[in-house]
Amino acid sequence: MLVDTGLGVASLRTAAADLFGSHLMAVATHTHADHGGGMHEFSERLVHAKEADMARSAHYHIPLDLDTWAPERRATIERSGYHIQSALLTAVPAPGYRIANYRLRGFEPTRVLEEGHVVDLGNRAFEVLHLPGHSPGSIGLYERCSQMLFSGDAIYDGPLLDTLPDSDVVAYRATMERLLALPVSIVHAGHDPSFGRERLQALARAYLDAKPVT
Ligand SMILES: [Zn+2]
Repeated sequence: MLVDTGLGVASLRTAAADLFGSHLMAVATHTHADHGGGMHEFSERLVHAKEADMARSAHYHIPLDLDTWAPERRATIERSGYHIQSALLTAVPAPGYRIANYRLRGFEPTRVLEEGHVVDLGNRAFEVLHLPGHSPGSIGLYERCSQMLFSGDAIYDGPLLDTLPDSDVVAYRATMERLLALPVSIVHAGHDPSFGRERLQALARAYLDAKPVT
């Protein structure tokens, strides 16, 4: 199972070929460009039902050159706690690569996921948790026997984004309540280093405290 695929500026399939066996399921925790950009390269493509259309239409394309962003868009990200530079990349795949030519590629899902579905790898099985808020179809992949969670952007140890065009603070609060109660041993998140249950609960509580019900 491959969880998220980056922007797709370079071929992940080629770059990490040594990691991929003959049978690989690529799962997008959601379809933002930095997670779903390489999905088209893989033959099995799984995504939540709420973002299947976004996957097909490459709905979340973003220009990588931030100078082309509207000031309000930049301000929204900066208010969330990010200090953005001039581009979303710190390196390019080849000399002469022009970030202005980047286009997010859409993908046709081969399996549409819902809450409670299981991604069964044979020797391991991950349960789909629908964790909306950051985006409508954000999911976590949870292995109950090891209590390992791949959380996508539902939670990570950095500034969380809940003011994006399809974000929903009320849904995000419910996701945080759910994560607070979830027994986890380790969370592998969409960004930043992995963490354990204590940190998960601290991050979820901090969100709930910062975004009280209005
Ligand atoms: Zn995201």
